[in-house]
Amino acid sequence: MHCNPRYEILFEPVRIGPVTAPNRFYQTPHATGMGHQKPLSGAALRGIKAEGGWGVVSTEYCSIHPSSDDSPFGFLTLWDEDDVRDLARTADAIHAHGSLAAIELWHGGAHTNNRLTREQLLAPSAQSAKFVQPGGARAMDRQDIADFRRWQREAAIRARRAGFDIVYCYAGHDYLPFQFLSRRTNRRTDEYGGALENRVRLLREMIEDTKDAVGDTCAVAVRLAVDELHGPHGITSEGEGREVVEMLAELPDLWDVNVAGSLGNDSKSSRFSPEGFQEDHVGFVKRVTTKPVVSVGRFTSPDTMAGQIRRGIQDFIGAARPSIADPFLPKKILEGREDEIRECIGCNICRAANNESVPLRCTQNPTIGEEWRRGWHPERIAGRGSQARVLVVGAGPAGLECALTLGRRGYGVMLAEAGNTLGGRVSREATLPGLAAWARVRDHRLHMLGKQPSVEIYPGSRLGAEDVLSLGVDHVVLATGSSWRRDGIGASVEMPVPMAASASILTPDDIFDGAAVKGPVLVYDDEHYFMGGALAEKLRLAGHTVTIATPLPVLSSWTQMTDEQFFVQKQLMERDIDLLLSHNLASAASGVAEFACVYTGRITRREFGTLVLVTGRIAETTLFDALSAATGAHGDIPSTTRIGDCLAPASIADAVHAGHKFARHLDLPAEATVPLRERPSFVTGAKPWNAVQPVAGPAARSVKSAASRSVRGSS
Ligand code: ADP
Ligand code: SF4
Repeated sequence: MHCNPRYEILFEPVRIGPVTAPNRFYQTPHATGMGHQKPLSGAALRGIKAEGGWGVVSTEYCSIHPSSDDSPFGFLTLWDEDDVRDLARTADAIHAHGSLAAIELWHGGAHTNNRLTREQLLAPSAQSAKFVQPGGARAMDRQDIADFRRWQREAAIRARRAGFDIVYCYAGHDYLPFQFLSRRTNRRTDEYGGALENRVRLLREMIEDTKDAVGDTCAVAVRLAVDELHGPHGITSEGEGREVVEMLAELPDLWDVNVAGSLGNDSKSSRFSPEGFQEDHVGFVKRVTTKPVVSVGRFTSPDTMAGQIRRGIQDFIGAARPSIADPFLPKKILEGREDEIRECIGCNICRAANNESVPLRCTQNPTIGEEWRRGWHPERIAGRGSQARVLVVGAGPAGLECALTLGRRGYGVMLAEAGNTLGGRVSREATLPGLAAWARVRDHRLHMLGKQPSVEIYPGSRLGAEDVLSLGVDHVVLATGSSWRRDGIGASVEMPVPMAASASILTPDDIFDGAAVKGPVLVYDDEHYFMGGALAEKLRLAGHTVTIATPLPVLSSWTQMTDEQFFVQKQLMERDIDLLLSHNLASAASGVAEFACVYTGRITRREFGTLVLVTGRIAETTLFDALSAATGAHGDIPSTTRIGDCLAPASIADAVHAGHKFARHLDLPAEATVPLRERPSFVTGAKPWNAVQPVAGPAARSVKSAASRSVRGSS
């Protein structure tokens, strides 16, 4: 198949200073949760992006000096030659597919922890640490500024030695150079503070220094937050954000612009932003510079992408999340297979991985983060290991992914679903306010299943044990999901809650099944992800008076991991939904519930027409139990495996991963299913003072040789 002529514009090469990108697909820097701690995993992940056709592939943030240490999060370092060696793997992996390798050099200033290095935090002016912790950052003096400029230069030279083609000056996301730009954080009275020309001085010097150091062979990119969404007190795209671009317009080789302040603004979830949501803020940049411009906006539609170029909004299609959900997005467009793009759903589970300091995971793409440790490739998969026939029961995310992946391997598969609609929980959850894009989990898989000749799908087929056994398959995979609890047990409340039979109490399942709701509505959320808040919003939009109660001190607490919590709580408060925080459900009678303060135990009462319990979920094991009971009665029971929520209720991403894993591992020897782990095989940077106490004779000489080795490794 051939590229649709409408999209050919996306495959034009673009010059960036001294280098040329082979096309307009630009994977902008994004965290992976791997960082310097997992260099092999990181290199494999970036290599797959290049293989998938991204013309530029960037690393995540890469610290230029130990005074910028984001431990325990996964961040890169370019502090010494060992880092050069590790990062060269990434550059090589990207070059192997003809793409350009970009590196996001980074100093966080007051926006780091420095818990590992225990260096003092640095900032333009003395201020509290951005991560709330005792103490704060000291104001940088002239020597500190000179040191910072030297660190950037030295890191750029190392980056070039590692093989990178594009080197960043990073003035976004509230990190150090941005702290100099913003009036909020820069209260200096010297030549680096006051008027904007002074506040921009450090960024200007950084660009000049970096160009001087490597600009003959590497492009120098600036990543700038043109609006920090703090209103007139901060950088705004109508005000100083625009002026900064005007002042420095032709200095860098590329502008990578976004809306930031905090990360949550830049990578807003689909619940709170549509595709292309940054355009209003970044659209001006191309009008004030002749240099190429890249920005992001969760672009997954090739028409929108081509429109961005044709309308002169940007020169590249910048993407982090769309490239995670589908590393092969560009290739699919090039080959006329855009219908096969696995579109990002904007759920931000990928952000959660980084916030939890673990390798990237994605709801749509179960192979991300698994490239090196499990050897999973998003597009290639081993053929079947036997002629076995497989029955998959349940067409939710786990069952759909399992059937699709088994089909890709060539197994004969029957997929049976009790309901007449497929998709399981996502078909229901996608009806919640703001979550329509989640239906892509179902739609992509159904579309791709339509291309699998060896998979048969049977909706409207609730199977019992006898049905299963009568089919005579070799393997049974149960993906029968879960249901919401009715007894009040959740994350905080561990014993059943006393509830009168006469009380009008519903679970999310009842609401999705269309149960009648009478106001006022009281939602009790002891699950703490999206469901409680989204249901409260749905019922409020239906016109009810709504209160949401939760045992934790903030609403939808786990959405802090997906960078959504602020937006969730703001939205509910703006919709006049009443909040009762830090209270456990103690009992429910007809029309009135009692809540106990988690600190004092004091009781608060709330009247309700309907109480909605969003607490724990119970695995749906009816079929599994019946099959287990049939064992013995029948001589020939096929192997039976539970996957996804019917084994242990978890996220959609976990269910998809479980379905994929079963299909990948079928007919593999057990030892081939164990993921690799990255472990340090040597100690680097040894200095005389951390070697063992020197003693006379040969031992002293060995200390000296360790010291001489360390010279190569020092910065
Ligand atoms: P998961 O997230 O693990 O994929 P879901 O709850 O989304 O779980 O999907 C489970 C699916 O299994 C639902 O669509 C449900 O209708 C279906 N199901 C449950 N029991 C049976 C059964 N006995 N036969 C066929 N389908 C079933
Ligand atoms: Fe998109 Fe969700 Fe995957 Fe992140 S985890 S890339 S938001 S689908």
